[in-house]
Amino acid sequence: MSEASQPGCSDEKRLASRDPKTYPVVDFNLLSDRRDLERMVAAVRLLAKLVVHPALNPEAGDFFPASFSPRIKRLSRYGTANRIVASILGPMLDVPAGLRQLLIRLVLLNGTAFQATLADDRALEAFVRQSVFGVWHPVGTCRMGDPSDPKAVVDPEGLVIGSDNIFVADASIMPRLPTANTNIPVIMAAEKISDALLSRN
Ligand SMILES: Cc1cc2nc3c(=O)[nH]c(=O)nc-3n(C[C@H](O)[C@H](O)[C@H](O)COP(=O)(O)OP(=O)(O)OC[C@H]3O[C@@H](n4cnc5c(N)ncnc54)[C@H](O)[C@@H]3O)c2cc1C
Repeated sequence: MSEASQPGCSDEKRLASRDPKTYPVVDFNLLSDRRDLERMVAAVRLLAKLVVHPALNPEAGDFFPASFSPRIKRLSRYGTANRIVASILGPMLDVPAGLRQLLIRLVLLNGTAFQATLADDRALEAFVRQSVFGVWHPVGTCRMGDPSDPKAVVDPEGLVIGSDNIFVADASIMPRLPTANTNIPVIMAAEKISDALLSRN
């Protein structure tokens, strides 16, 4: 996940509607820090080199990047239409290498071989920007901190600064992105905040 989801970076949260049942808009603005983009571009190039290495892949021409694009998301949904598409596309890829590679280029890569994208800095950057997405561990949209810290939303007991009785106890209060998974830290934070609440009462 990019550092953009940490407090202080330019991720955006706003209400989409006055209706409390409508989900808010949360835009993590991934890759807004250029260093993230540069690291991601270097990582894609490195992986691409490994994937087409003859020791790993005797058919290097079959290589194409799998990104979770809106088109692939649509294709991944269960349903009759997708079952028909998959039953046609699957066997079509099981043909002699030359024809398969043509199909990959035309159908999966919109006509541009990925080697051409890899060789072109701007095209690769555009590909990375288009393909990047978060992986379910967003934190810190409502960070804990000292009440005098202008970027803090809740105090060290989880109380929303400026309120009398509103508490937050979830992943949003993490002051920064942890280097481990988030589930156990959320449970620990919730235990700590509930202890503080109980001792208040
Ligand atoms: C697919 C996936 C895989 C993950 N894998 C791991 C993993 O392997 N290890 C790990 O440590 N972490 C993992 N995580 C991350 C971890 O699950 C989260 O960081 C953690 O659950 C966040 O806890 P939370 O309490 O902040 O939010 P949540 O667990 O999302 O809890 C929010 C709760 O609020 C409820 N809610 C929402 N809106 C309303 C409303 N209007 N009124 C009342 N209730 C509402 C929701 O139903 C939900 O129960 C994964 C997350 C996902 C999505």
